[in-house]
Amino acid sequence: MRIVLLGAPGAGKGTVAKMLTDFDGSVQISTGDILRNAVKAKTKLGLEAQGYMERGELVPDKLIMDIMEARLQEPDCAKGFILDGFPRTIPQAEDLKVLLAKIGIKLDAVINLDVPKDVILDRLTTRRTCSNPDCQEIYNIKSKPPSPEGKCLKCGSPAVQRADETVEAITQRLETYNEKTAPLAAFYEKEGLLKTIASLSSEEIVAQVKASITK
Ligand SMILES: [Zn+2]
Repeated sequence: MRIVLLGAPGAGKGTVAKMLTDFDGSVQISTGDILRNAVKAKTKLGLEAQGYMERGELVPDKLIMDIMEARLQEPDCAKGFILDGFPRTIPQAEDLKVLLAKIGIKLDAVINLDVPKDVILDRLTTRRTCSNPDCQEIYNIKSKPPSPEGKCLKCGSPAVQRADETVEAITQRLETYNEKTAPLAAFYEKEGLLKTIASLSSEEIVAQVKASITK
């Protein structure tokens, strides 16, 4: 399958993407991953991206698109890919359209995970992450709590709330999402590719995605 996954932070894109890659061998591709890998592989584009990141600047869209172009043509993408968290803006979506046309790839669908704000807030603000950088086990104070003292069950380090997972931070992230990324749904609706799924169960979402691309 060749799909784009849209959805606010906390909508479950990562989980769903992982389940879908198990289904047909498609690879999950996120901007963060491809940038990190390009930097690690010291490709020409990777080194250029590294320069921006080290200066604390945003990597320009043009460079991201060039890295994406190379990534999408690697052999492991032959079975398909799931773009997770990309594109993020309308200009990126327009660039992606041009890129895919250039390399002769057609998207099967754009899946929009529609999760209510209160559910996202509840999911993310109840999350705790082990503070040991080598462990980073993820807990949830409701469904998978750390020890009563708030310690990681694996390594004993404190399980803490990440700074970007407080109510204030998440509200801010959701506002940014609604401003920049939510308009993408309308863009892909016009392209005839959009499928919005409002389920809260990853299994149910995956089943609907499979049904929509195999029909
Ligand atoms: Zn731990």
